[in-house]
Amino acid sequence: MELLKGKPVADKINEKTAAITEELLSKDIVPTLAILRVGSDPSDIAYEESAVKKAKSLGVHVEKYIMDAKSDESDVLDVLKVINDDENIHGILMFRPLPAGMDEEKVRNHLAAAKDVDGITDAALGGIFTGNVSGFPPCTAEAAMTILKYYGIELSGKKAVVIGRSLVVGKPVAMMLMAEHATVTICHSRTPEEDLKAACLDADIIICAAGRRSTLTEDCVNGKQVVIDVGINFDEEGKMCGDADFEAVKDKVKAITPVPGGVGGVTTALLMHHTAAAAAAYAAMHKA
Ligand code: NAP
Repeated sequence: MELLKGKPVADKINEKTAAITEELLSKDIVPTLAILRVGSDPSDIAYEESAVKKAKSLGVHVEKYIMDAKSDESDVLDVLKVINDDENIHGILMFRPLPAGMDEEKVRNHLAAAKDVDGITDAALGGIFTGNVSGFPPCTAEAAMTILKYYGIELSGKKAVVIGRSLVVGKPVAMMLMAEHATVTICHSRTPEEDLKAACLDADIIICAAGRRSTLTEDCVNGKQVVIDVGINFDEEGKMCGDADFEAVKDKVKAITPVPGGVGGVTTALLMHHTAAAAAAYAAMHKA
């Protein structure tokens, strides 16, 4: 089994980001990411802390906009307007899901297209589906694809199974795999367990993005699969784990990403790279 570590992939992206930020800083442009968090979900806070640390090491400035979970939707839209209008902010990371009662589709579509560095607006997602990509792709889906590419995993003509159909990971990664000429099957919570197993056993590549421990079990693999485990879950002892039963499947797959140490770091690296690229696009437009 080959362990597909995220670190070398992230390091390569971070190198490129650092070069862009260095150039921008020499022109007095500080690439800046706004983080908008409504509420205090512990996993959002954990991701926010690691993003802030990574940003600092790459010369990306972060401005946090933290709002109470009981805020009105109109207050969130007002804050988004402030962020959209601020010329010193180049990218926006908005945590989702938003608190119950908010119209998430409406709110996410208020992000300025040029600042949508996590590809959450319909315009960015539409580009993934039509093939006319103009904005930034969703970072997590792109991270899965970047890992496959880095490790030289052949996709053309291969059978890929995506477990999960969210707009954050499942749907965009399925489209990205198809764009690389893979034959894609998407499984979700209504897929009968035996169908999911059969699809996985027949697959060359499996992307796990269900957010549920033990979705990929030992009897779903037979030695030929490359597994990208996007899931972030916690076991009874509070230890982070993915969607795959790592210990049980690791010797029955061709390759697998670890959790932690796989997709997560690459996702953050891409978020920073998109922010730096958005700042560079701003600089080019304003001839800085
Ligand atoms: P989500 O919105 O909750 O979507 C989960 C998807 O999985 C849904 O489509 C759901 O089906 C499907 N699903 C749930 N249980 C299933 C089962 N037993 N069998 C098959 N499919 C099942 O989650 P998400 O935002 O896509 O995130 C997925 C996972 O990735 C989470 O663990 C999240 O924490 C993680 N994540 C990781 C990163 C990273 O950088 N590593 C970034 C973002 C997210 P239905 O549509 O039928 O409900």
